[in-house]
Order: sequence, then structure tokens, then C-alpha cells
Amino acid sequence: MKNLFCEGLVENDVSKLLLVPKSDLHNHSGKGCTIEWLKEKLKVNIPNQPASFDGLEGMQQWFTETIKPYCRGAEGLLIRWEGAFAEAKRNNIKRLSMNFDVSVIDLVGGMDVFVRTINEYHNRYCPDIVFEPELTYLSCCDIAQESDKMDDYFSSGFFKSIDVCGGENIQPFETFLPLYRKAEKYHLLKRMHVGETGSAEDVKKAVEILGLQEIHHGINAATSPEVMAFLADNQIQLNVCPSSNVKLRYVADYKYHPIRILYESGVKVTINTDDLLLFGSTIENEYILLYRAGVLSAEQLNDIRENGLNSRI
Ligand SMILES: [Zn+2]
Repeated sequence: MKNLFCEGLVENDVSKLLLVPKSDLHNHSGKGCTIEWLKEKLKVNIPNQPASFDGLEGMQQWFTETIKPYCRGAEGLLIRWEGAFAEAKRNNIKRLSMNFDVSVIDLVGGMDVFVRTINEYHNRYCPDIVFEPELTYLSCCDIAQESDKMDDYFSSGFFKSIDVCGGENIQPFETFLPLYRKAEKYHLLKRMHVGETGSAEDVKKAVEILGLQEIHHGINAATSPEVMAFLADNQIQLNVCPSSNVKLRYVADYKYHPIRILYESGVKVTINTDDLLLFGSTIENEYILLYRAGVLSAEQLNDIRENGLNSRI
């Protein structure tokens, strides 16, 4: 598979890249389908994504104004979930960590209905993949209020990891200790969105305080040799999403993407889509963009691809 993957990059042959097993470990399920799939499914003409967004707020605004009118509420969410699994099948994704905002469980009718629904899509489109559902809390949430239901959600055995997203430095890291302690009790992998807009020091602090094993984004760790050494020594993996960073204007261009310095400093990294429906770049395209920008060699990108296929769970 290594040769096929490297050939696909060198020859710019998407069909070869689609054949090779890949992972996607940072995928917000409700935004995990392609816009083409959504247009085809709904038989509507949705405008394509803009070249860039004005940060997370601009991105959310575009989603609310442009996508949501076509697929609102629980019904719309089910369509987008289905599309996310269809894309995993099309792209030969063999390890998929898809995250679900905690609010969607009640939206679709409670934990039993939720698990049944997701299992049905998983089995219909890609039953043979390693599927690792992730439960995500918003960084502005009231953890005390959420904690009542945590045991229910975690003891089901459905979720394999937890995450916090929705903007950094909204509340101190310590606020989330009850959540991460609970995750530890149920042996869930501990992840968090950090170092996308926050600093390298934030990344280190979050790992030390919450015992994170992986970080979603974490790209700003590249500004600190000390923090990169800390991540490398402690085998903390960064699940990096290049198009997300460029389109949100956190990185000026693919050719300056910090994944290169992170990788070359020995930090474990993976390449992921984040919000495919918004950023418009499928997983094989993320590898192509980095290769064409001269950020990493085909062999280095293959090494990252293989790393993503190794489950820690
Ligand atoms: Zn994300």
C-alpha cells in the first residue's frame, strides 16, 4: 500500500489514493459529508463553500445561513450523518473517529435511538472499519449540569473518546476536570481542541492538567521547541486538519503549514478533515495539498497515514 499511496501523490492520481486505507480521527459528524453528496441527496443547488472564513464565528454563520436552511433539526442531521458514513466508504477510510456533540443525543430521541441510528449507518456503509465514536462537550458548557448524564453516556460503552470544542480559553482547563476524571474511570481516550488559536503553552498546560493523550489541532505547539519536545517525549498525538487551518486563516498558506516542523521534531501527527462540509477538502485531498505545497515528502505523508491507522484504543 505504501507504493500505491506514494505513486498516487507523485502522479497526482486520486484513484490510487482512494484505494489506499486511510484514517480520519477528527471529524465533526454533523459536518462530515461532502457538499456534493448533500446536493445530490436533497436535489438542491447549494452554493459552494467560500475560499476562507472569518474565524470560527464566520464559519458557523455560513453554516447556519447557507447549509442549515436545506437540512434543519434532527431530520437534517440524520441526512448529514448518513453522508459522513457514505464518504468514509467512498474514501476507503478504515479507521474513523467521528465526534458527536452531546446535545444531539436528546435531539434524536435519547441514547438508545441515537446508538441504533448511528450503528445502522455504520453497518450499511462501512461495517468493516474501526469506528470510534467520540462524545464532545462545548467549551462554554456548565460541566456540573452535564455531569448527571455522563455516567449514562459513558457506561453504554458506545463512546471511545471524549473531546471539548467550540473555542479556546473560554473557561480554565481545571473546569473540565470532572469530565476527564469520569472519562478515565470508563477508560475513554482523552482529547481536546487546543492550540488551534491558543498558544503552545496552552497545549502543554491542557495535557498536564487534564491528562490528554491526544490533541485536536495543537498546531501552535510548533512555535515552541520545548513544547514539541514535551509532546514527543510523552507520545501525545496531534490530530491536524490542514484545510481547516488555512480556510479559517490560522495558517497563511499550505506551504507554511506547521505540520512539517511538528513531524520533523518527532511529534506524532495525523491528517484529518475536521468539517468536510465546510472546508470542502476530502481526506485524500488533504494529503495531495500538503504534497503539492512541498510541505512533506510522499514517504513522510505515508508514514503519517500509517500512524493514523494504529488505534490506541
Ligand atoms: Zn474540530
